[in-house]
Amino acid sequence: MIKYKLFCKNCSQYFDSWFATSKEYEKLKKLKLINCLKCDSIKIEKSIMAPSIINNKNKNNNSNSKKYLEIKNKLKEYKKFIKNNFDYVGDNFTNEARSIHYNNKKRKKGIYGKASADEVKELSEEGIETETIPWVNDNEN
Ligand SMILES: [Zn+2]
Repeated sequence: MIKYKLFCKNCSQYFDSWFATSKEYEKLKKLKLINCLKCDSIKIEKSIMAPSIINNKNKNNNSNSKKYLEIKNKLKEYKKFIKNNFDYVGDNFTNEARSIHYNNKKRKKGIYGKASADEVKELSEEGIETETIPWVNDNEN
């Protein structure tokens, strides 16, 4: 299934519609079977697609890939910075974060590691502020 945001040129109404495939959309459009929910006009056009996850394998089809790579490179720099300035504690992140918070454990560097969304939420409820950043793998291009 694919979701398109459709736009009615007649009444300027936007609405979402689901299609089995993009080909089905083209077919229905050609047959004038797509009409506006509001005014019934068939002057419908496809507007921006609903956001979806970028698939690396289809990079060439993705007009956003340049921007995506720029951001990804920035994230790589960020990651490098963190690696140099923070200690990696891996899965032990929530424990370490608590021990710093509750036991005043002194560390030369900040820490970073893995935590699930639930763990991050728990920490924040305990007054431990963490920052979540998107993490990129070095071996990806
Ligand atoms: Zn309309």
